Amino acid sequence: MTDKEKLTCPHCGARLLKWAPPDNSTWDDFQYACFNDECLYYQKGWDWMMKKFKVKASYRYRYDPQTGQTGPLAVWSDTAIRNLVIDEKKD
Ligand SMILES: [Zn+2]
Repeated sequence: MTDKEKLTCPHCGARLLKWAPPDNSTWDDFQYACFNDECLYYQKGWDWMMKKFKVKASYRYRYDPQTGQTGPLAVWSDTAIRNLVIDEKKD
């Protein structure tokens, strides 16, 4: 896999957006995540979290460019964490 391929979501093909973790996060550096609300990974997450933990939350696909690892990024709404995205043009 090339670096370029890693920067798209394997679940929906959307380009991953760079975002800066908040100060209290366990990540020190920039992360990438899929912010596509149509993404199946994200959409299925709502059901899974409700069934498993009885919470209204989901997760987005995340890629850590420092470690090369991917994993879920927990979110509690469609707009959560969007304010931390730094390479998306905001209207
Ligand atoms: Zn996606």
